[in-house]
Amino acid sequence: MRKPVIAGNWKMYKTVGDSVATAVALKPLVANANHCEVVIAPVFTALKTVADRLEGSNIKLAAQNCSTETAEGAHTGEITAAMIRDVGAGYVIIGHSERRQFYSETDTMVRRKVQAAIGADLTAIVCVGESLAQRDQGIAEQVVSGQLSGGLSGLTVSDLDRIIVAYEPVWAIGTGRTATPEQAQEMHAFIRRVFAEGHSENAAQALRILYGGSVKPENISGLMAQPDIDGGLVGGASLAAESFAQIVNYK
Ligand code: PEP
Repeated sequence: MRKPVIAGNWKMYKTVGDSVATAVALKPLVANANHCEVVIAPVFTALKTVADRLEGSNIKLAAQNCSTETAEGAHTGEITAAMIRDVGAGYVIIGHSERRQFYSETDTMVRRKVQAAIGADLTAIVCVGESLAQRDQGIAEQVVSGQLSGGLSGLTVSDLDRIIVAYEPVWAIGTGRTATPEQAQEMHAFIRRVFAEGHSENAAQALRILYGGSVKPENISGLMAQPDIDGGLVGGASLAAESFAQIVNYK
């Protein structure tokens, strides 16, 4: 049985004060959500304070990025996976399309970050997804399988326990345009097949695959009803405690 994960990506929003206020408001609203892992990803500067305020709650923390470097050193502006673990986060989002698009993140960088995250005992939420032009050209599966093999090669069987894949079609992120549950299911089933071929059937069946792209309280149940959708990575609708709680409590 795969335990669903509902993760909120707060992107570059909220001061420390605003992050704490949202996290504290969320806490009672999701306190009974035992059916899924609840994760929020505030900005780096708010992680430690939010982690302290959430201690003992069922809400887990993610960072939104980490360095490819594993050792401390002269890398201005970078943060290691171990430093993220040190402030109390258990997850890190890697390879988000905004990082690929605006910060030239490549599959090689994604792979190094994934390895850094695993080495620091973090769970990596690895994002993949095609652009609208790629979907229209009929190469969506090719793009996604390339991102999976480029970003996740060289992992051992035990490393795979630390991997969650988020399928986020770029055309659905922040656009209000959600993939239909059927479109999402089709790609999720494909990702699971790629994993079965690249690793094993057991690893594929255990892999959690989240859907991301304009997830809202109104569409989460339809998405979660699909057999290969194991949760959501939520951007805009995770910024307010009430709407994120409605998504978490989709059952
Ligand atoms: C995201 O940032 O990962 C995301 C899916 O954003 P949104 O839900 O706003 O489309």
